[in-house]
Amino acid sequence: MAGEADNGTPRILMFGPPGSGKGTQAALLARRLGVPVISTGDMLRQAVAESAPLGERVARIMASGGLVDDETMGEVVAERMGHPDIRSGFLLDGYPRTVPQAETLELILQQRGEALDAVVLLDVPEGELVRRTLNRRRDDDDETVIRERLRVYRNKTEPLIGYYRDQGLLRLVDGDRPVSEVAEEILTALKGEG
Ligand code: AMP
Repeated sequence: MAGEADNGTPRILMFGPPGSGKGTQAALLARRLGVPVISTGDMLRQAVAESAPLGERVARIMASGGLVDDETMGEVVAERMGHPDIRSGFLLDGYPRTVPQAETLELILQQRGEALDAVVLLDVPEGELVRRTLNRRRDDDDETVIRERLRVYRNKTEPLIGYYRDQGLLRLVDGDRPVSEVAEEILTALKGEG
């Protein structure tokens, strides 16, 4: 774990199913740590809003609840990681979502002599996830899309739990609690091991 020596540049991945609150927690933690959040969902939504070529390509996939292809996502993230603000560390939210994406991320970091410090997994029971996502759904989301997102998470993204556990990076946090309590436990989990 090459990142361990330099705690001044935290490189952390926020991980969890749709509705686990990882976007909220990523924003809070990034402010506490003074590092930027890299949210691939936000980047893609921005590309769609701007009718950028990337946006035109991904709009339909996003609307269906599916995943944008790994190669495109690799390009998006590699480009973002080239920005100078990343030198202080970063918090990834929504990337990687597949094992090939995790391998690409490892490669990008390796080429810079860097590595992830920790992967925070927000654990929330399935029933609560569905309840939360139905409550906060965006205008264009219907229940079919929400369920598809969860299905895709189970099939494509959940295997990353084992991937990062094997690397000793996984920090499991109970996400089924008030926002501020979850935020505190994340900080504790990051201090505890690592
Ligand atoms: P999010 O806001 O992270 O839930 O992302 C919204 C949508 O953007 C997802 O449902 C996917 O269609 C797409 N997306 C975001 N990040 C990724 C990724 N790492 N890989 C594939 N698709 C992604």
